[in-house]
Amino acid sequence: MASESSEFDVIVIGGGPVGENAAQYAIAGSDRTAVIVEHELLGGECSYWACMPSKALLRPSEVLDTARNMPGVKELVGDQPLDADAVLARRESFTHGLDDSSQVAWAESAGISVIRGHGRITGERTVEVDGRTLSARHAVVLATGTTASVPNTPGLRDALPWISRDATNIHETPGHIAVIGGGVVATEAATWLLSLGAKVTMIVRGSSLLAGSEPFAGELVAEALKGRGAEIMLDASLESVSRENPVDTGIGRIHGGTIRLVVDGSEIVADEVLVAAGRTPASSDLGLSSLGLEDGRYIDVDDHLTVPGHDWLYAVGDVNGRAPLTHMGKYQGRVAGDVIAAKADGKPLNSKRFRASADHGQIPQVVFTPVEVASVGPTEAKAREEGIDVEIVAQDIAVAGSSLQQDDYSGRAQLVIDRATDTIVGATFVGPGVAELVHAATVAVVGKVSLDDLWHAVPSYPTVSEIWLRLLESRR
Ligand SMILES: Cc1cc2nc3c(=O)[nH]c(=O)nc-3n(C[C@H](O)[C@H](O)[C@H](O)COP(=O)(O)OP(=O)(O)OC[C@H]3O[C@@H](n4cnc5c(N)ncnc54)[C@H](O)[C@@H]3O)c2cc1C
Repeated sequence: MASESSEFDVIVIGGGPVGENAAQYAIAGSDRTAVIVEHELLGGECSYWACMPSKALLRPSEVLDTARNMPGVKELVGDQPLDADAVLARRESFTHGLDDSSQVAWAESAGISVIRGHGRITGERTVEVDGRTLSARHAVVLATGTTASVPNTPGLRDALPWISRDATNIHETPGHIAVIGGGVVATEAATWLLSLGAKVTMIVRGSSLLAGSEPFAGELVAEALKGRGAEIMLDASLESVSRENPVDTGIGRIHGGTIRLVVDGSEIVADEVLVAAGRTPASSDLGLSSLGLEDGRYIDVDDHLTVPGHDWLYAVGDVNGRAPLTHMGKYQGRVAGDVIAAKADGKPLNSKRFRASADHGQIPQVVFTPVEVASVGPTEAKAREEGIDVEIVAQDIAVAGSSLQQDDYSGRAQLVIDRATDTIVGATFVGPGVAELVHAATVAVVGKVSLDDLWHAVPSYPTVSEIWLRLLESRR
């Protein structure tokens, strides 16, 4: 609903998944009013440029991999590649051709107003949107997310490289693409680019893929990507880039002629280059300096998601840098929305519900590479760094359930146990389809379930979850 009003109970700047959740929770079941200010597409990065299109591109190759490892099906599939046009068409069905009208309809149905434009704070509880001044009775929520970072390597920016938005909204598949980075976005993009038929060369500054994960996860993902034809250059330094005739042909289209990348003195020639080298908080043009806060940084918040010193100001989702994942941002949005509602109703904030405690080391994440990596909590190294008296149990995933899943199923699971409390603080699973295993681990970690009690959580036979039993048995 395009609003004529200039006063709202809650103003949310940034209409990604997190801002939407915060607005919804802040007004649900009340007569409070909320507005979302959005300068691009309601639904944000996740809906159009990140989670949804990337997972839509990845799922077909996962299905094909399973089919290729399943007698009775593999004979039908043979070595047929994916139908790239059908894959891209399915992706398009999730991004609605970059039309956000269904999200606007959702906001309207939830009683949330939408104002199009760039939001900027101009003072306490005051936001300016392209010359129009809005004021908030209770709260202003910053949910502006991040943008892709492009390093200052000589020639790279002039070459008009692809960023994640091009890779997820791919319309033309390059014959050979160089991927700069070795993190989640780089490894997932390499996976779908390979499945669409591109030759992929990964240029990774560090000594492993997925540097924030358990080392075995990065190794198994590297092995799987190499098995699909990727070349992976580790400890590699990109020195310069040059391109013949760079031209802005649009998102997901090849941006000009041949690219030459100099890596450790050697030249790589490619048709496109994708930069997946981190994110920058979208906080440089938000008017933060009008409140004495620093522009262009991740916005510091407490566990109520309030900006210290400004009890009416909240920052949720990627822009606060606490846990840059949609599900964690939405969790923060729910906490912030509940806090705003409670404060408006004069209720105390003494329930656990009003604190984003999971941000502190209980963060689940799935990486959708050819072998998935599903994890929660700290890695072994991080837990040791935190001073936890760590015990590790690890097992290859070879249970009846996994062997039924597909031929040649291989994977690995590891628990990080705190000896002092005999509870699990972290878990990592690597293998086909392990994404669905991580929620059980999250419940155990958050609930601080003792290993004695876990013994009585019996996994069903024959499922991949039997790995839980193997892990517990290995420390009897
Ligand atoms: C390729 C890729 C794949 C990903 N896959 C996953 C995944 O599978 N699972 C997962 O959990 N996470 C994934 N992520 C991370 C996920 O996209 C983010 O965590 C999530 O989008 C954060 O949501 P947000 O609402 O905080 O920010 P965003 O989604 O970035 O939304 C911010 C919104 O604010 C708007 N905005 C910014 N500044 C202003 C302003 N001043 N005025 C008005 N509007 C403004 C923007 O236009 C945008 O719509 C992925 C990220 C990438 C890059």
